[in-house]
Amino acid sequence: MKRLFIAGSVILVAAMLYVWGHSDGSAGRAPGQLETAFAAEEKPGLSPVKARARDFYAPNSEDLGPNEMRVIACGTGMPTARPKQAASCWLVELGNGDKFLFDVGTGSAERIAALQIPYNYLDKVFLSHLHTDHFGDLDALFVGGALSGRQKPLRVWGPSGDTPERGTKYAVDHLRKALTWDLDGRKGITDPRGYHIEVTEFDYLGVNEIVYQDNGVTIRSFPAIHSLDGPVSFILEWNGLKFVFGGDTYPNKWYAEHAKDADLAIHECFIAVPDMIDKFKFTPQGALSVGTQIHTAPEAYGKVMSIIKPRMAVAYHFFKDYDTTAAINDRIRTTYDGPLSLAEDYMVWNITKDDIRVRMAVVDEDVWPPPASEKPQVPDPSQRIPYSDEIISGKLDVKDVIQPTYDEINKKYGLDEKQD
Ligand SMILES: [Zn+2]
Ligand SMILES: [Zn+2]
Repeated sequence: MKRLFIAGSVILVAAMLYVWGHSDGSAGRAPGQLETAFAAEEKPGLSPVKARARDFYAPNSEDLGPNEMRVIACGTGMPTARPKQAASCWLVELGNGDKFLFDVGTGSAERIAALQIPYNYLDKVFLSHLHTDHFGDLDALFVGGALSGRQKPLRVWGPSGDTPERGTKYAVDHLRKALTWDLDGRKGITDPRGYHIEVTEFDYLGVNEIVYQDNGVTIRSFPAIHSLDGPVSFILEWNGLKFVFGGDTYPNKWYAEHAKDADLAIHECFIAVPDMIDKFKFTPQGALSVGTQIHTAPEAYGKVMSIIKPRMAVAYHFFKDYDTTAAINDRIRTTYDGPLSLAEDYMVWNITKDDIRVRMAVVDEDVWPPPASEKPQVPDPSQRIPYSDEIISGKLDVKDVIQPTYDEINKKYGLDEKQD
């Protein structure tokens, strides 16, 4: 890796973990790593020659145990774009090989790419609601994923609305229509199999009703209270583990009832109202309305977690900065004293029955798409939509300088490709 991003706080936490020793269990750790960590102490005075266990998660470097769940925050922010935090997106990876995305908010496609997962396995997206900070990068995952190795349709599950126009199917169908020029221009040039979206719209009023069931995984939804009718939250259950993903909401009775005893319970937690006024420049009236009525205020977040008592509570949907985090934490702690993660992008949770290990992922900025899991299909040039004569007439003659590239590739791969 050429460039590693390690936030100062991660280095600090890593150093603290090293000093204190690992008090948690074995989740997220390869067999033998614990022994390796202490091997240097066996021969005092000699510097170690073996690597110690990492204190961070490096994508594509760890096996997932057969009973293990790994959750990675690919977006924890807001509709207001910022380099530090993409908007809501959560990857769930299971020891049976299944992977699921919950929300794909604006900016999150870049975070997903950093995890180096072949795109064929990133074909299932569950949307909590249709705000751009929860589905704004669906186009990037759809088109970019197909271009980068997803050789099957992208499957999207999302709630209906109180009218057909406010439902997931309408939104996704029209997003696809908006991409007409993009998709037409790729015909005959790239593997066509990934450029399809299949939408499964379910009743937003369903309470703990199954919206997905396959391969030992059950996903249910229940309503949320946010902005308009339509938003939902999800529960994923597999192999005795329970993951709850709360979409945006005012605290609601369905979450309080059905998220109980979650292993990992994600719920939104909005910026403290004074910071919304000081830093976000909301009016006091607007800050009170958005920060406590449309969303969940930190004190209310704590109350919800005190009711459901998860093994690990995860708070997101706030700008997590040096000068905002303390206020969020202090306010949550007035109403909740259990295990808590204040999420930021690339936070990782390895979950087993015995342990929940929390780390940060360290990613390679120079990442390329991982190899496709299936052989790519050679495009059919007859499917291309031709340029008009007017546009063709504008081509400069550069065939002479391109021809050596054709010669090189034809020779290397035994082809007989010719320039247009
Ligand atoms: Zn929202
Ligand atoms: Zn949101």
